[in-house]
Amino acid sequence: MDNKGKGLNTICTHVGELEDTKYKGAVSPLYMSTSYAFDDVDVKRYPRYFNTPNQEGLCKKIAALEHAESALIFGSGMAAVSTALLAFLRAGDHIVLQQTLYGGTYNLVTEEFDKYGISYSFTKGWEPKDFENEIRENTKVLYIETPSNPLLTITDMEGVAAIAKKHGIVSMIDNTFASPVNQNPIDFGIDVVIHSATKYMGGHSDICAGAVASTKEHMHRIFHLAKNFGGSLSDYTVWLLERSIKTMGLRVRAQNENALAMAQYLEAHVDIDAVYYPGLTIHKDHELAKRQMKGFGGMLSFELKPYLDASLFQKSLKMIKSSMSLAGVESTVLSPTQTSHALMSAEVRAEQGIKDGLIRFSVGIEEPEDLIADIEYAIKKVKKETKTTV
Ligand code: PLP
Repeated sequence: MDNKGKGLNTICTHVGELEDTKYKGAVSPLYMSTSYAFDDVDVKRYPRYFNTPNQEGLCKKIAALEHAESALIFGSGMAAVSTALLAFLRAGDHIVLQQTLYGGTYNLVTEEFDKYGISYSFTKGWEPKDFENEIRENTKVLYIETPSNPLLTITDMEGVAAIAKKHGIVSMIDNTFASPVNQNPIDFGIDVVIHSATKYMGGHSDICAGAVASTKEHMHRIFHLAKNFGGSLSDYTVWLLERSIKTMGLRVRAQNENALAMAQYLEAHVDIDAVYYPGLTIHKDHELAKRQMKGFGGMLSFELKPYLDASLFQKSLKMIKSSMSLAGVESTVLSPTQTSHALMSAEVRAEQGIKDGLIRFSVGIEEPEDLIADIEYAIKKVKKETKTTV
């Protein structure tokens, strides 16, 4: 189906679907073949060439969702991140990255890039001028992530894209936290959009995948590296991911609503010290978030008052799971200090405002009153067990 003029949920449901011409089934057939004819065919198909029927169908859907000309799907978010970056960087080049990034991306850059002779700088602040300050003659890529993990800081996509264009540099974004439902960076001038599809696109905590979307020209360049790196996704998982994305609009919009309700409840709570959610008017980047996001997302972070033990609180929750990863239909919490940001030194964490008691909350689709009841129960339990009288 052509996506012109179609709304989000229609694109999620129909774009890229494969027709079952033989049996007229309602859903896309799954083609598991790893071997296709090479004679008398227009396209030589092979999973690692990213061009099996199911891969091509899903790529169309993701490109349409991100307002991009083209897209590719990978075996993980990190396969997407590494392939996209290395398609535009070679020995002698330099990249400017936002100061706070997903830990895996930070590790890729700081542990691997030296080996390839690629130099890098992290910005000192969050403003577009902070990116411009780090640009050198050999800078080839500006890389951002907004909202950021774990404090949900917002980067000005239009501002960073304009700086990249001014200097003839490629701009890239990890759009995982927002999802294409809440944010379409290409509309703001960003060149390359990356996703850990393990998160909102998959949405059920049972798929590991990645995606990149951009112009045909950029995707051609990324494809050439991708087929050599070999990070393609199995067709069965491609098929499952296509099915998952059908409900992405419904899920993410419900998660937006729940996250706002949770943020407002936590903000008003006597036992909570701080809440970080771009949808709250108290969030330092609320106005910017309003300009560039359609919804504020399902992720938030909060700090308990110092008299409550954050670790005990997480263990005391009965329904909300303590769990790595994010964006599933089920609500989960984690401690960034113990997980995503554990490899960072305590000083760097402190500089970035990531306190030991910070809790990252991935809000699911449960009823908000049940989420609140679970949090109330856990707070009471912590108070009782630590004999806190406040
Ligand atoms: N980008 C962000 C923002 C993430 O949160 C993650 C994973 O947590 C990744 C990229 C990497 O994705 P994957 O784990 O699918 O490789």
